[in-house]
Amino acid sequence: MQTTERTTPATVKLLIGGKLIDSTTSQWRDIINPATQQVLARVPFATQAEVDAAIDAASEAFKTWRKTPIGARARVFLKYQQLIRDHLQELAALLTAEQGKTLADAEGDVFRGLEVVEHAAGIGNLQLGELANNVAGGVDTYTLLQPLGVCAGITPFNFPAMIPLWMFPMAIATGNTFVLKPSEQDPMVTMRLAELAMQAGVPAGVLNVVHGGADVVNRLCDHPAIKAVSFVGSTQVGTHVYNRATQNGKRAQCMMGAKNHAIVMPDANRQHTLNNLVGAAFGAAGQRCMALSAVILVGEAQSWLPELIERSKTLQLNAGTEAGADLGPVVSCAALERIEGLIAAGVAEGATLALDGRHPTVTGFERGNFIAPTIFSNVTPAMRIYREEIFGPVLCVLNAATLDEAIALINANPNGNGTAIFTRSGAAARHFQEEIDVGQVGINVPIPVPVPIFSFSGSRASKLGDLGPYGKQVVQFYTQTKTVTQRWFDEDEVGAVNTTITLK
Ligand code: NAD
Repeated sequence: MQTTERTTPATVKLLIGGKLIDSTTSQWRDIINPATQQVLARVPFATQAEVDAAIDAASEAFKTWRKTPIGARARVFLKYQQLIRDHLQELAALLTAEQGKTLADAEGDVFRGLEVVEHAAGIGNLQLGELANNVAGGVDTYTLLQPLGVCAGITPFNFPAMIPLWMFPMAIATGNTFVLKPSEQDPMVTMRLAELAMQAGVPAGVLNVVHGGADVVNRLCDHPAIKAVSFVGSTQVGTHVYNRATQNGKRAQCMMGAKNHAIVMPDANRQHTLNNLVGAAFGAAGQRCMALSAVILVGEAQSWLPELIERSKTLQLNAGTEAGADLGPVVSCAALERIEGLIAAGVAEGATLALDGRHPTVTGFERGNFIAPTIFSNVTPAMRIYREEIFGPVLCVLNAATLDEAIALINANPNGNGTAIFTRSGAAARHFQEEIDVGQVGINVPIPVPVPIFSFSGSRASKLGDLGPYGKQVVQFYTQTKTVTQRWFDEDEVGAVNTTITLK
């Protein structure tokens, strides 16, 4: 039986200038365990004065942090990665409590962020300029990759560890200071990561955290001291952030919503493919920007649908804390209501509800926001369930006669976050790789999120801005290239006036 203790919930602090501070705001929001509805804590919506104080602290800290040697910056992240490892289970438990995903998946959330921290520890090998010797008589040209100043990050609810770790470690490692605005739905694990960053030696003011919603985000987009904004979240909000930040002269990178397709060719390895489809569609209750939300069965593979449905039924729906859980609840009652509304729309529009996961019973967690794996077949591109990102455990199945027909379907969809093909044919896989207009491609890999030596490279409607998070691209994003052209005169050299633009 569920019990809810009636105690005053803890309050989430702001991190400003190295100090954990109680907000003076009058606007608060409850952080709710999605499996039980227990109020875990309350999060403040910071006042403008508090946001400005965080930006001022970051501006002040930049004066010294930008001059900190690259080796010293790297060593902070060497220590930080160890602290995250040491606290992995504690972080995962906090994450599961406020977000709902299973403990194993929560560890994965932290781990994928940890990989970026490890990458940041190698900043000495990444923030390198170029040098061309003797570009004109006695002239060398070289580049410096210098930090921008104060950068800001705005993160979504679905990866409250990984996505903040996509942002501030690389920004800080390259010599910037940072103001982070986590999701107001689950900011507790992000705060714990910020505390560990301070413990690892990130100096006061170099990392600041403010909480809130649209007002705080807008202030970060408007404040003149912020030089760059990284955003991950929905397409609607990301487009607003991109427009507002760039109109204010800032750099912006916005990673946004998706509809990720997998193509299943009839020659694919049947068992591996079915397992991969089910895991990628329903893991994290479908609340991943790289979740598989549409599958296109090509030709004979259409006969695999009954087995796909049967396998989906075997997944264990339970609170994320419970042993054996494959998927947990969705993040909020509002999210559940929205998903159920989209399922109703799919039924009304004539798709076949081949597996209906609505209103399941989860013993011991009757009040949780649960929905079990749900599958629609006979889906067409005009339907809302296909056009909109459902962000729940709902898979749309479409049919195609040929690989080219399937590729055309995907290329006609506006989103370009991720896609995958399942096949045993190298020729089909290569044809797919070349013809598909999506930024991240998996070949027998259902969720092709690159490791941090590469960059996250979503495309088209899933992204605004040229440079993605982590990898080489983010080093460019968080630095200004300064090109130096230098000449030193020999003591006995006699020069001449040069009135042309040519370097002589
Ligand atoms: P969201 O857009 O609602 O919120 C993201 C952030 O924006 C939060 O910090 C939130 O406080 C803030 N925000 C919300 N409304 C705002 C407004 N009106 N003005 C300014 N700021 C506002 O997204 P979410 O529901 O937290 O996350 C789910 C979405 O994120 C999905 O669309 C998912 O695909 C996307 N996502 C994308 C990626 C990617 O890499 N492409 C990764 C993870 C999640």
